[in-house]
Amino acid sequence: MERSTIVRVHEGLHARPATRFVKLAKGFESDVEVVKDGKAVSAKSSVKLMLLAVKENQEVTIRANGADAIEALEALIGYLENPKAGLDDEDQPATGTAQEAMAASAVQAAPGVADAAGSLRGVAASEGVAIGPAFAHFPPEIAGQGRMLQADEIAGEIDRFRAAVSAVQARMDRTLAQDSLSAGDRGIIAALRDIAADDSLTGEAERLIKGGTDAVSAVITAASTIAADFNAVDDHYLNARADDVHAVGRQICLVLLGQDDVSLEHIPEGAILIADDIGAWDLARAPLKRIGGVICGHGGATSHIAIIARSHGIPAVLGLGQQVHALRTASQVALDGNSGQVIVDPDEATRVDFAGRVEAAAKERAGLTAFKTVTPKLANGTVIEIAANIGSLEEIEAALEAGAMGVGLFRTELLFMRHMHLPSEDMQAETYAALAKAFAPHPVIVRTLDIGGDKPIAGIEFPDEENPFLGWRGIRMCLDRPDIFKRQLRALLRAAVHGNIKVMLPMVADISEVRQTRVLVAECAAELQAEGVAHAAFDLGVMIETPAAVLIAPALAKEVSFFSIGTNDLTQYIMAADRLNPTVAKLNDVTNPAVMSAIELTARAGVAAGIMVGMCGEAAGRPDLIPIFVKMGLTELSMSPASIQRAKKTVAGMAAEGSA
Ligand code: PEP
Ligand code: MG
Repeated sequence: MERSTIVRVHEGLHARPATRFVKLAKGFESDVEVVKDGKAVSAKSSVKLMLLAVKENQEVTIRANGADAIEALEALIGYLENPKAGLDDEDQPATGTAQEAMAASAVQAAPGVADAAGSLRGVAASEGVAIGPAFAHFPPEIAGQGRMLQADEIAGEIDRFRAAVSAVQARMDRTLAQDSLSAGDRGIIAALRDIAADDSLTGEAERLIKGGTDAVSAVITAASTIAADFNAVDDHYLNARADDVHAVGRQICLVLLGQDDVSLEHIPEGAILIADDIGAWDLARAPLKRIGGVICGHGGATSHIAIIARSHGIPAVLGLGQQVHALRTASQVALDGNSGQVIVDPDEATRVDFAGRVEAAAKERAGLTAFKTVTPKLANGTVIEIAANIGSLEEIEAALEAGAMGVGLFRTELLFMRHMHLPSEDMQAETYAALAKAFAPHPVIVRTLDIGGDKPIAGIEFPDEENPFLGWRGIRMCLDRPDIFKRQLRALLRAAVHGNIKVMLPMVADISEVRQTRVLVAECAAELQAEGVAHAAFDLGVMIETPAAVLIAPALAKEVSFFSIGTNDLTQYIMAADRLNPTVAKLNDVTNPAVMSAIELTARAGVAAGIMVGMCGEAAGRPDLIPIFVKMGLTELSMSPASIQRAKKTVAGMAAEGSA
């Protein structure tokens, strides 16, 4: 017996709705299957159901076979068509930063470099300074015994395995019962609990044990197989479930081995957490309020630990590579999340210096929160938009929390770098729409793909280049690959229906790049129109990052709706000083008169043409430079969420002083 329907579950059958659906299905004796695109899976396995990747508004068929098939069909179809009916709070989909943060996969950073003795340098991933006792967190790798079981051992091994699974479920239930758990953390743990309770992992492990594999090896193999399936789905939320499967597998193995996990639960107040990497399960349970700072071998500015650290205001230095192991025996550590410096067992003078900086930062933070809701205006009434630079949906909450008046730069690279394949139009449209909705009515400026020979991504062949920063990157690559570019433009046109989306092009050096983009945008809009897909026009702007763009700014200003000055690249190109090369770091200075003149020329051209001039390079958040930029005519400054309140205070101060 079967029936088809259109799924009305918001965002489809991902974790919590899948669990709810499975719970319903398990209430019936009948065998029940969900069929999508000819593929059928059991409706009683949330893992299998999630892997089917059923999206909102897709058609599925429910097949039931058994004594209560009619009732089962009615209940399950009823849920898919009207998912809110009869839900209690516990069944609501969990949302929130912590849960969503699991969607981020760590971007491997270049190994750290050693500075002076006792001082290391990694990636500055979350701003702020910290000093405190070192807390080394290096959980041992778990390896299977690699032993074939004798036939008479198998039944006992299965019992041992089942007992371990029950113990892990019970531990998760106890954690879920704690009132102190935040909604986000509850979401993470509930998702793990679902996987532990699902027979995809346990069933596969039991199958392997029956074949003679020891329980630990069986769990490791089963977890890897299921994780690979999650990684293969074109959905960043589901990709993150791979991490969850490994986390659950690890917990089961630890029980089997009779080992305690190295937990972060007992991290002392203000300690500096030192790890090679920090997994989702550890992170979800970590007492983040007690952590003074984070130092990791893995990760970069866009990895999930960086995102969580930034949103909780925890200074972090990541990507130290193998050098992180030198910190295993440290007793005290100081770190600077602005410069990436890590000092092992600092001397007295350094201790005093860091302690003073930590205290000053805390005082400043306390005074800044009042600016969260301020709309900074100049004495003449002009509003200066203080917006956020973000690179993923996980950062939305921190940006809103800081008081961001929209997004001035959404770096779309992370979306492309997280996957083993290029993101689909649907996935991109969903991401951009979620962003637009979160900040509406404020604008969200999405930058089209800015990737080049220095940061390759799966799915695009990059040539070997002598000078990747002067090569095939940003708008150049996009215009040469209209298949990739049009997919992004179509997604942006679709997302523009949901809020105030604006689009800007990186690395523009010639006016033809804007004109060619406009032709492609018009083509995409006509295609969507013909297909009957809802879409809306967006404002198109350019980043001013090349000397060429500065010099043709008056002409460019006639063709676009806004400028956004990318001082990071503009500085390196004006000064001919590689932004990644520490040897020429002195030249890579935005305050050099050459760069400041370029900014002023750009502002003048934009103001004369009556278009908005903003800035999204790092300099936009510098309180010492903000008054200068504002006086040049910039009306939008976009920066890391952590800098927003200070920037609002700076602009408000200008009005109070009557200097603007
Ligand atoms: C810039 O170049 O200033 C900028 C904002 O872009 P990115 O740092 O991503 O190159
Ligand atoms: Mg740039």
